[in-house]
Amino acid sequence: MPFHYIEGLKFYSFSTFGKDVRHGIFTRLGGVSPKPWNYLNLGGTVGDDTKRVNRNRQLMFDSLKLDVQSLFDVWQVHGTSLVLVDEPRRLHEPIQKADIILTNQPSVTLMMRFADCTPILLHDPVQRVIGMVHAGWMGTVNGAAKIAIEAMVDRYGSKPEDIRAGIGPSIGPDHYEVGENVALEVLKTFGENSPVLKEQLNGKIYFDLWEGNRILLQKSGVQNIEVAGLCTACKLEDWYSHRAEKGKTGRFGALITLEVLDGR
Ligand SMILES: [Zn+2]
Repeated sequence: MPFHYIEGLKFYSFSTFGKDVRHGIFTRLGGVSPKPWNYLNLGGTVGDDTKRVNRNRQLMFDSLKLDVQSLFDVWQVHGTSLVLVDEPRRLHEPIQKADIILTNQPSVTLMMRFADCTPILLHDPVQRVIGMVHAGWMGTVNGAAKIAIEAMVDRYGSKPEDIRAGIGPSIGPDHYEVGENVALEVLKTFGENSPVLKEQLNGKIYFDLWEGNRILLQKSGVQNIEVAGLCTACKLEDWYSHRAEKGKTGRFGALITLEVLDGR
């Protein structure tokens, strides 16, 4: 997964998305927030000052040469509700609760915030639809990625084989220890012999969110899936990790928008 530096901000992009979309998953580098949110914190509910969060958001949009007025974001609640977006969010209006956002409008930039949960970016270059999914363990066991693909098919006429998917940085299978209750939910979704749960020699159980979401996408018919394989808890100089930083942390941002093409 290639990364880029623009004006001190460092962000990653998926190779699988072509020139038809503009997108980035932003590390914590390059923003204005002090510790423990250092530096590019996009989270408005983690104790950081709103002015700094808004400044960071502006820096992120500027780096991709996007207008912050094109923003559509949601209040992420670890569910599977989706919003089909036709126009940017009016920033003074209340924010909707959802964990899946889809649009076919180049006037809209989709944005979400993360600190261990898995960002999933979607693009259908044929019907010109993009999507973003926030999938922690609940979103993963409840099939948020599958629900997103079904909505692209039902609501925008996408064919799963045309859709490209990127599974972004999140807490990796080396760090994501889960308890018995979570493990039981994972087994219900993925089956007894699934590789998504691994018991280590110490007897602890680890959940592989990347593989879980890759399986969900593949079962939905998506063939083109890129997995970043970047663990947020392994590399705190780049990412916020709720688990590794014991909740005293920020949120990193992901953006995706359709490029405006001539005549379309
Ligand atoms: Zn790790």
